Amino acid sequence: MKVTLDQDKCVASGQCVVAADHVFDQDDDGIAVLLDPAPSPARADDVHQAAAVCPALAIRIED
Ligand code: SF4
Repeated sequence: MKVTLDQDKCVASGQCVVAADHVFDQDDDGIAVLLDPAPSPARADDVHQAAAVCPALAIRIED
């Protein structure tokens, strides 16, 4: 699984961190930061959930 995050699209809602806090964090301005661009399969459900709930469609996943 490969994850990419478009910080230019991010609107700092924090939903991705709630869904997958091992993979996403937020900087001081609330913009998402990608902690792990290649999460383990065990985190796949959480990462898919993060992408699904992101209001800015800033998270892309390649399985
Ligand atoms: S859910 Fe989307 S818009 Fe919200 S912080 Fe994460 S990447 Fe940014």
